[in-house]
Formats: sequence, structure tokens, C-alpha cells
Amino acid sequence: MSSQTKQTILIVDDEPLNIKVLSQALSPWYRVKAATNGRDAINISSSEDPPDLILLDISMPDMDGYQVCQELKSSHETKDIPIIFLTGKNSTEDEAKGLELGAADYIAKPFSLPIVMARIRNQILLKIKTDMLEKLVSVDSLTEVANRRRFDELLTEELGRSIRSNGFLSVIMIDVDFFKNLNDNYGHAAGDVCLKQVAQSLKNTVRRSADSIARYGGEEFVAILPDITHDDALAVAEKLRENVARLEIRNPTQANKNNVVTVSLGVATVQPLKGFNEDAILKLADKALYEAKQSGRNRVCGRIQ
Ligand code: GH3
Ligand code: MG
Ligand code: MG
Repeated sequence: MSSQTKQTILIVDDEPLNIKVLSQALSPWYRVKAATNGRDAINISSSEDPPDLILLDISMPDMDGYQVCQELKSSHETKDIPIIFLTGKNSTEDEAKGLELGAADYIAKPFSLPIVMARIRNQILLKIKTDMLEKLVSVDSLTEVANRRRFDELLTEELGRSIRSNGFLSVIMIDVDFFKNLNDNYGHAAGDVCLKQVAQSLKNTVRRSADSIARYGGEEFVAILPDITHDDALAVAEKLRENVARLEIRNPTQANKNNVVTVSLGVATVQPLKGFNEDAILKLADKALYEAKQSGRNRVCGRIQ
């Protein structure tokens, strides 16, 4: 996220008039969204386009602000969205409770608009920094896909989810063929451009929001595909292979008839039981990739366990 684009603030209040007043003050500076109940607030926060800050009322029918805060803080997806309670409840106990639940700030009504605006700005500046830091530790700077550290986290999460739901999980190891040849013939900078293009192609090919692509290291990438049969995972791998070849990045080698960059892919599909670990699925994918390399490259091999 860039600091030049407008940040999004979600106002949650069961009283539409309160939303209107705040929204008017905020909209010149921020993108404003609104929810009149806790459930909608949680849905908006866990959507593909989450807010950067939430202004949360406490007294609301059905689900109160404390419950909303608790639920948002307990989910991995939403726990880093800062929350400012903006409430008519003005006892020190209420304020302490709100802050203990993980809120970034607590403002009691009646409030001074300039102070609210200043406190919001402080939280937004902090959020921009947190997002930058999060990106630095989880995104590969060359290819802009998830890095190895983030991949390890994602795999652990997805493996846990598959074990709990008794579902399938597929991992695809993807290795660029004859990449050293490209580097040696066209230079390291051309190699870097190739890696960027391959990464973008892989990312654009896996379309489901639960799927992810990461740079495993060097010229190796990896895809995680939850809840998918082995046959479907093989079909995705085949699409990944085709789309990389279609980029037509030049890489002439004696063994490569088409003289373009290709990838070899190893697909592993498991239905993991409790105790199954990350290493086991990675080893399986690695074996399949080895087979793909040995049997001529630019192809997909699979293993199921
Ligand atoms: P194979 O078909 O068997 O996979 O052969 P290969 O040449 O692709 O594999 P090898 O492991 O021999 O070479 C990989 C090369 O990738 C070696 C390394 O210098 C290069 N490499 C690793 N990371 C980067 C990078 O970030 N940028 C560039 N340009 N090259 C990199
Ligand atoms: Mg290679
Ligand atoms: Mg390699």
C-alpha cells in the first residue's frame, strides 16, 4: 500500500446520524465505509478490501463493540487493523476494558472533532508503517510474491486447516529449466527480469483467493492449493507450465527445442492426519519435481499420499 493513496476508515455505529457527522468530517481525507451493526463490521473487515482503521461504537444491539473487537483481534486476518472505540460509555472501567481487548485508542463522547481527527491521523500513520514492515518481512523484493518466510507460515496454516477439516492439500514445486544458461548468456539482470515475469505469470494463473504463490529460493517457486483433488492440482500445474512457456522469454539451449524459458513442476497432494508435518509434503513435491526434471523438463509430475 502506498502512503499516497487514501486510507480507508470503517465507522461502526448503530446510529446513522453519528455515521453521517463523522463521515462528513473524514471523507475529504480518507475513504469512508460504514456499518450499523457488529456482524457487518466483521464482514467488511475480513473482506478482500479491509479498512486501515475502525471507529467502533460500544453500545449496539445484538453484538456490542467489545464483542466485535474481541472477534477481530482473535482472527489472523483482522487482528492488525487498529480499532478506536468512540463511545458514550465514559467510565474508567469501560475505557480500561476497551484497551485491554486490544483497541489502539478510546475516545469518550462528547468528543472534540479536532482531537478525534488528530488521534485518527496518528493511528493511520502508525498503520502505514506497520503495513510497510509487514511487506518487508513477507514479500520477496525482486518478484513481489510471498517470500520463503511467509511461505513457511502459510504452509503451516493450510496444513492445520486441512487436518481439522479432513480435506486435501496440494503443494506444487516449480523450478525454472536451464536458468543458469540464461544467466550465463544474457547476464544476471536478464535473469532477474525473467524471474519477475515468471512470478507474475504464476500469480495470475492461480485465481482462487485461498491459493498462494511464493518464491521458495533462487529460481524455484512454490504454489499452495488448499481443498483440491490431485487431478485438479495437476490441471492447475499444467496451466502454470503453459502460461510460463507462453511468455516466450528467450533461453536457447541444446536441450531446449523451443528456445524459450520453461518450468518443471512437481505436484504433491495429501489428505493429512494429525501429526503430518510440512516437511513430508515438501519432500513429496520435491520427488515429483525431480521426476519431471529427469524425464525431460518442461513437464508436470505428481505424487499422492
Ligand atoms: P535445471 O534445469 O536443472 O533446473 O538447471 P538450472 O540451470 O535452472 O539450475 P541450477 O540450479 O544449476 O541454476 C540455478 C541458477 O539460478 C544458479 C543461480 O546463480 C541462479 N539464481 C539464483 N537466484 C537468482 C536471482 O535472484 N537472480 C538471478 N539472475 N539468478 C539467480
Ligand atoms: Mg532450475
Ligand atoms: Mg533450482
